Amino acid sequence: MRLIRFGRPGGEKPGLWRAGRIVDLTAIFPDIPDVGEDFFRQGWLQKVAALEAPGIPMNVRLGAPVGRCSKIICLGLNYYDHSQESGFQAPERPLLFSKTPNALCGPEDPILLPVSSGQVDWEVELAIVIGAEGKRIQEAEAFDYIAGFSVMNDVSGREAQFGDGQWFRGKSFDSFAPMGPVLVTPDEIADPHALKLEAIVDGVSMQTGTTADMIFKIPEILAYVSQDMTLMPGDVISTGTPSGVGIFRDPPITLEAGNVVVCRIENIGELRNEVVSQD
Ligand code: ZN
Repeated sequence: MRLIRFGRPGGEKPGLWRAGRIVDLTAIFPDIPDVGEDFFRQGWLQKVAALEAPGIPMNVRLGAPVGRCSKIICLGLNYYDHSQESGFQAPERPLLFSKTPNALCGPEDPILLPVSSGQVDWEVELAIVIGAEGKRIQEAEAFDYIAGFSVMNDVSGREAQFGDGQWFRGKSFDSFAPMGPVLVTPDEIADPHALKLEAIVDGVSMQTGTTADMIFKIPEILAYVSQDMTLMPGDVISTGTPSGVGIFRDPPITLEAGNVVVCRIENIGELRNEVVSQD
């Protein structure tokens, strides 16, 4: 099943994506909550999976496939080739940082260039959406806690990220987490550790990789994160990026207004975000 949120920013409604057609879930279930904590707690993922409605073609904006979540946790340096290009040692345990939920935006929304940081960069990543509350999740049970998978561009303001001494600000600017286009439930992903991922800027392929190369795999990540941090339904974990980001290229490439960044993962879909400057 492919879950979406559609409509104007801040007014998105839950829907299903069925081969280019959209099922408006609020038309069938007037009391359905937005995709987030209540949606998953109340078992809506299972309820809507049973629906046979074919949907109708609609030309609408898509939002990120989850609404405001309690947290977005990201992994740094979770691919060997990216840790090498960055000049860091591959981590011995997962390196975590976070993005704030204000950074979330839709799969075709603009990436807003911040006024307080230059060197804006792309990172294509497989994102996990948590479907059930969990603490001290066992690796063997990790997939019971996953609602689905999506694509995230972990947009990064490198000037702030590296200039501040920690990564918080440079990772959390508005629009720095384009996500979507859909949340794909695990039954449609045969192996989340065998997905090709790619980032393309203005038609030029910048990152190509496979999730098989993740250093820490999904069960280890969920077990590690949830040891002392409760994961909530709707939370997002972004699992890191392969090599080919802009800042470590020779010469470095950073995003400018007018660039279009496509981030694509096999069997999930693609983000297509234009970079725009703000007044
Ligand atoms: Zn990242």
